[in-house]
Amino acid sequence: MEHIIEMKGISKIYKTGDEDTVALQDIDLTVTRGEFLAIMGPSGSGKSTLMHIMGLLDGPTVGQYFLEGRDVSRLNDSSLARLRNQKIGFVFQQFNLLPRTTVLGNVLLPTIYGRLKNSRSRALQVIEEVGLSDRVNHTSNQLSGGQMQRVAIARALVMNPAIILADEPTGNLDSKRSLEIIDIFRKINSRGSTVIIITHEEHIARNANRTIRLLDGKIISNTERIA
Ligand code: ADP
Ligand code: MG
Repeated sequence: MEHIIEMKGISKIYKTGDEDTVALQDIDLTVTRGEFLAIMGPSGSGKSTLMHIMGLLDGPTVGQYFLEGRDVSRLNDSSLARLRNQKIGFVFQQFNLLPRTTVLGNVLLPTIYGRLKNSRSRALQVIEEVGLSDRVNHTSNQLSGGQMQRVAIARALVMNPAIILADEPTGNLDSKRSLEIIDIFRKINSRGSTVIIITHEEHIARNANRTIRLLDGKIISNTERIA
């Protein structure tokens, strides 16, 4: 099975004033293409830092990161941005939509940078997949939280990325809305995309094939779900 993500000896040290923060310590992690992985751990344990490195938003201080077999640990910013646009879709707790822009406009954003052909029909397709075809021309500040997160998922999907990374995607949603969001991630994963989500909630993590737990920047457990 192909290792879509392989991290070897990754550490991340933030220099803040006179004190260093060791956010990640000697992380070894492989993710197989098609996995649904949950990342858990208390606040400050390094979850978001790990996801930022996986998603090429930041580089490690030490160690190597292979994405689809390619060493990306030391790429420059423009190479990282291009690869990120092609390979990774992000979903955040706070949705991070443009508030006065329509659903369609928000979903089209990655395609402008990525110069996707037939971007409008692709955007309408992913908007339909998340069940928002009747809201295409609403601005995102006219939507409920659950709808906003579905727009964010459509935006993450529009470039057809190999990996979807979601940082506490249900953290601002009630339980019914959370389940709807998780169902969408399951559907995305069942079609072959690798899905990695950070969550605090056991019942969310239970949807994944595997859960890793972080504490103080280290992986303290790595558990496959028995089907
Ligand atoms: P989590 O997502 O698990 O809450 P983070 O990855 O955000 O944890 O943070 C891990 C540690 O790194 C924390 O101690 C946090 O304060 C620190 N940290 C995170 N981002 C930065 C940053 N940009 N600059 C300095 N310290 C940071
Ligand atoms: Mg975090």
